Parts: sequence; structure tokens; C-alpha cells
Amino acid sequence: MSTVATATSLEEILARLAPAHGVHIGGAWLRGDLGTYDVDDPADKAVLAAVGNAGADQATAAVDAAAAAAAGWAATPPRRRSEILHRAFELMRRDADELATLICAENGKSVADARAEVAYAGEFFRWFAEEAVRIDGSFGSAPAGGVRSVVTRRPVGIAALVTPWNFPAAMATRKIAPALAAGCTVVLKPAAETPLTAFAVARLLAEAGVPAGVVNVVPTTEPDDVVGTWLADPRVRKISFTGSTGVGRHLLRQAADRVLNASMELGGNAPFVVTEDADVVAAVDGAMVAKFRGGGQACTAANRLYVHVAVAEEFTALLAQRVSALVVGRGAEPGTEIGPLINARAVDRVNGLLDDALAGGARVVARAEVPDGLSGYFLAPTVVADVAPDARLVQEEIFAPVAPIVTWDDEDTLVELVNDSEMGLAAYVFAGDLKRALQLAERIDAGMVGINRGLVSDPSAPFGGLKQSGLGREGAHEGLEEYQETQYFSVDWS
Ligand code: NAD
Repeated sequence: MSTVATATSLEEILARLAPAHGVHIGGAWLRGDLGTYDVDDPADKAVLAAVGNAGADQATAAVDAAAAAAAGWAATPPRRRSEILHRAFELMRRDADELATLICAENGKSVADARAEVAYAGEFFRWFAEEAVRIDGSFGSAPAGGVRSVVTRRPVGIAALVTPWNFPAAMATRKIAPALAAGCTVVLKPAAETPLTAFAVARLLAEAGVPAGVVNVVPTTEPDDVVGTWLADPRVRKISFTGSTGVGRHLLRQAADRVLNASMELGGNAPFVVTEDADVVAAVDGAMVAKFRGGGQACTAANRLYVHVAVAEEFTALLAQRVSALVVGRGAEPGTEIGPLINARAVDRVNGLLDDALAGGARVVARAEVPDGLSGYFLAPTVVADVAPDARLVQEEIFAPVAPIVTWDDEDTLVELVNDSEMGLAAYVFAGDLKRALQLAERIDAGMVGINRGLVSDPSAPFGGLKQSGLGREGAHEGLEEYQETQYFSVDWS
């Protein structure tokens, strides 16, 4: 079992969480109706905890609880909802070390990355505490005169939230916070790999004053049963999903049967463009963040690096130097920069992509050292140059610390390559001339473009993708609107 140098040990945190009673319905912490399943530490494959495993019956019970709490929560004054969310933000700051310990243990990322995630996750509570009291509407006069239109917003209703393992805290808070701000109650299914952080967040919300039944958590190894039950339940009015495009499509098909309101945050394949006039050192700094944060397991991760031929040699040499020096190890170990991947399947998949690229003429220019004695799902951070533009390594989402470099010299061809993808989540442009960077960014099919920076995630900005990277936005004011319906009153007071 992992250890980490924080005040409270992982064992103590787990004992308090009681994961075997992790099914959280109507304020109670219950055993799973399917028993328990094991959650592993990807750094050593050891069992961290036996977690309550819920099936379809508990999925329905969670909706019962969310339905019972719905009217009361929707009628709770926005100021009060805001205060509770603000308290949740403060509690996340108080518990930051413990949450980071949990994230490190079940996801494997480094303590530094886990702490950064907790800070980011907490900010959604603060942002939506502020948005909760900014629920707006509008007023208009009909052109023909006499009739006035009063436009209001109401909570969409019970929201089913489904989240991935790569940001166990932030993907949950990015959905829970706006839902609660808008006055919705929720049922959350965390990823089977990382339910522990979700339990901790739910406990903290209860402590902040969220009434029983407003947030329900249903961990399961049977996602089709649980989420399928929710999508078929007429009381559920919304699905918000973050995960792979394949599963997103599957859920959209089910949502179509009930014409459900759907928000989808799906896969990415972010291009990272460096122009000939870019500050190469800054671009390498940006690439280290965009590519290697969380070990490359981010939907916004730079997936393919397009570097102008004029600076390719310098960029590649500098990046190789930085990547060779990355410290790989257990995330919980102080000083670790890159932890393991999530599971053996991920390691095999990425090795397959690498083999394919090397067979197509690519070459490895840097590889960090993976220390002996590590038994988890480790994969050495790697830089690969001379990658063919059609290699699977640049066509598919890598989701690992592997940076493929493709060189370019003609901007129109570059834009064609960049946009030749069904994904359109994030992109990055590093250029000396800001006007040119913006012109280039406007030509890129991506919902978010980092310009001269390797990070785009910000709770105050609309996060989301174009094309098959998703539908809707999270964060910003748009994030609140995803949990609202517009209603308008046509009024004749002539
Ligand atoms: P995944 O699609 O396998 O799983 C995501 C969630 O869906 C998990 O909770 C999983 O249990 C659940 N799920 C799986 N099969 C299901 C089914 N048949 N019915 C209902 N639920 C089901 O994705 P993942 O491997 O956990 O996460 C990685 C993917 O998520 C990557 O593609 C990444 O780009 C994407 N992602 C996107 C964003 C974004 O904001 N756009 C953020 C993080 C991750």
C-alpha cells in the first residue's frame, strides 16, 4: 500500500472513508448490493481498498433520493446554495493534503500533480458559488406591442454525472458544482478505478451543508447497468459525461430514446504547434506542461507536436534533455514527476502505438529512466522524432507520456494536418508574433487554444470541444447554463 509524507497516512484516511460502505444514497453510506470490488494502486498493483459495488437496484434508489431532495434544493435560495458551495471550496482547501494522498494512491499521478488537481477541483466550488447568485433571465416587448416576454431559467432536474479516472476530483467537482448552483440534485458514477476521491468529495459536501439526497454517489463495476438504469428513468432529465468518445456515443444513443439534455466532454488529440519565430525555450516549457502533466493522461494533453523545420533541431534537443531528466516513480514518493499509467491495457496500447511509429521510420530521441524495482504500470516518458504524419501515434489519443514530433514548413499544409482529425478539444500555438498566433489559432478546429502557454484549463473559462470531442461547455457561465432550462412567460399587461 502506498505511503506519502503527509500528516495523515493513507491507512488512516481509508479507515475514515470506509470504502466498503461507499454507496452514498440519501445521506447514508451503504454497502453495495453487489458486494465489494477491489481498487488497486497502479504504482504497485496492490489492493488499496474493497469498495462497495452497486447494481441497478441501488441506481434506482439513488434516483429516489435525488427525487425526494429535488424540490427542496431547487427552492433553496441561491444565496444559501452559494454559501454551501463556498464552504465546500474552503473544506477542499482544508483537506487538500488528504485528497491529494487519495488521488495519488488510486490514480498514480505525482503528489505535485495531485495537489494541483485538488486546487483546480476546489476552484469549481468557488466559481459556481459566485455563479449561483448570477442566475439571469431577460425581458422583451413583442414587436407588435402589448405582449411582454419574461425569460427565466429553471433547474434542468435530476442530473446523472459520469466521470473518468484521470482527474478523480476535478471531473466530479466540474459537474457537481454547477449542478448544485443551478438547483439540481445529482447521481454520480465515478470511474471504477478511482471512486475513493469521489467518496471524500461527497463527505466534504455533506459537511459543507449539502442536504441528504442532493448528491448521491454510486460506485460500480457494472456501468451499463447503473447508467443504463438512470438513462431509462423518466425522473432523470440530464446526462453529463466525461470520458472516451466511444462511451459518449453509446450514452448519447441511449439519451436519444428519452430526448435527454446531454453534455459530453470526450476524447482529444491536441496539436501543439511551434512556429519558426517562437521562443523555443518557452515552447519547450509549454510542451512539458501540455504533454507531461499527469503523465500525459489528460484529455487536453498535447498529442502531436508540429515543429517548424527551422527550429525543430533546437526544440527536439531541448525537449529530449528535459524528458530524459524526468523523475519516474511512485506518485506518492516526494520528487516524483511521472507516475504509472492507470492499468496494463494502457501500457500495452501505447507500446503498440510506439512500435507502429518506429516501424514507419520514426526514431526515439529521448527516454527517461524507469528505476528498477517498480512493479506497477510504468511506461518511460519518451520523445519520438521523424514521425510520419499518418502514424497511429499522431492519429490516435496516446494518453501517456510519449511526445511525437512532426516537422512542417508550409502553414496551409500544417493546418490541413492539424484539422485532419475527428477530435477538436484543445490545441496549442507557440509563436513570436501574437497576431500570427491568433490568426493560426482561428484556423484550428479546437474548442480551446493555448497561445504561448501549455495549459488551458480554467474554471472561469468555457471548457469543451468541437467535432467528436464533445457537446456543451463546463466552467464559466456556460457551465451553469448546462444545468438550466429556459422558460418564458408571455404576458399581456396592456
Ligand atoms: P471511459 O469512457 O472508459 O470511462 C469514463 C466513464 O464512463 C467511467 O466512469 C466509466 O466507468 C464509464 N463507462 C464506461 N463504459 C460505460 C458504459 N457502457 N455505460 C456507462 N458508463 C460507462 O474513459 P476513461 O478511460 O475513464 O477516460 C479517458 C477518456 O476520457 C479519454 O478519451 C479522455 O480524453 C477523456 N476525457 C475527456 C475529458 C474532457 O473534458 N473532454 C476530460 C477527461 C477525460
